[in-house]
Amino acid sequence: MKVVLQNLTKVFPSRNRKSKEEVVAVSDFNFEIPDGKLIGLLGPSGCGKSTTLYMISGLQKPTSGRIFFGDDDVTDLSTENRGIGLVFQNYALYPHMTVKQNILFPLQNLKGADKMSREDMLERAYYAAKLVQIDELMDRKPSELSGGQQQRVAIARALVKMPRVLLLDEPLSNLDARLRLQTREEIRRIQKETGITTVFVTHDQEEAMSISDMIVVMKQGMVQQIGAPQEVYDNPKNLFVAKFLGTPPINVFYGRVKSGKVYIGEAAVLDVTGAQDQEVMVGIRPEGFVLDENGPLKCKLSNVEVMGRDVSIVSTNDASANPVVRSIINADNKVDTSKETVSYSVKPYKCFLFNKETEERIEF
Ligand code: ADP
Ligand code: MG
Repeated sequence: MKVVLQNLTKVFPSRNRKSKEEVVAVSDFNFEIPDGKLIGLLGPSGCGKSTTLYMISGLQKPTSGRIFFGDDDVTDLSTENRGIGLVFQNYALYPHMTVKQNILFPLQNLKGADKMSREDMLERAYYAAKLVQIDELMDRKPSELSGGQQQRVAIARALVKMPRVLLLDEPLSNLDARLRLQTREEIRRIQKETGITTVFVTHDQEEAMSISDMIVVMKQGMVQQIGAPQEVYDNPKNLFVAKFLGTPPINVFYGRVKSGKVYIGEAAVLDVTGAQDQEVMVGIRPEGFVLDENGPLKCKLSNVEVMGRDVSIVSTNDASANPVVRSIINADNKVDTSKETVSYSVKPYKCFLFNKETEERIEF
């Protein structure tokens, strides 16, 4: 089922009686979510992710704009009639019911023509439980399950009605690191197996990048960029997107373009033919540095962190907008830690220029 968001906007009235200032939680969101894909809705806290998801679910009514599931305009449909499955951060299972009863619950509430026989309901419940691999735990109470198992039950409960669209709001936030990794792979597997169009909300860029077909990066209610994870990482539209994606984060320097060269301080780090002379912000991905004794970019070496396959070199540079410059270099390269300075050349395709005022990307 494709999902179309058309000029979707949500404005909350001011909560403060004195000031009339409204909150534009979501502003003019346009996107056609392709059928059967997993979309990662990504951005910092407060950027409008949950509000977008709640509008798709029907829990919140848009101030303006329309929502379509396939060709159906569902904007005015209630949540129950949209055919969605919802999973929240806190699993919200019924504590007095067994796993089986929790999963059956949405089916028992079906009315009229949708009403199911006990047998069919059980079959569906076991199918959903198998999908999330908890069919062995059907007679337990939620209190007898780990956090990860509880979240699987919540996912099974969302899947049991065979939703047209699956909506997940930070579903892994309450899990510890290892379980988070495992459960996100699980969600991806289930999504692929069922082919249900899925919107996955998270503030964790790595999580979104790793499981999404496409990511949507939001900031203050506004969509910044939509694309395949790698494509957005390799081609960020603005400084915000460049900074939001990637660990360690991108290194940012104050620089300038002069006569076809990019300068960081006095160092000409890159030739650019297509950019005019101007002050710029220079973004260099950590993997964009090459150890090079004759390299133009000199940084003051502070520390070398061994990470096994790679080493992370921490240094400082007067033109850096971040407190430190962090590069990731293959561990085969030997860093001379007796020296005070580390010299780099820069991989052009790992280097981005941004307008100093608008922070929009400058092509070169
Ligand atoms: P996210 O999920 O990305 O953290 P939200 O969608 O929850 O962000 O919130 C977006 C913005 O809308 C925030 O500024 C938030 O304070 C505001 N907001 C969310 N819900 C309400 C509400 N019910 N009333 C007023 N403001 C709200
Ligand atoms: Mg939220």
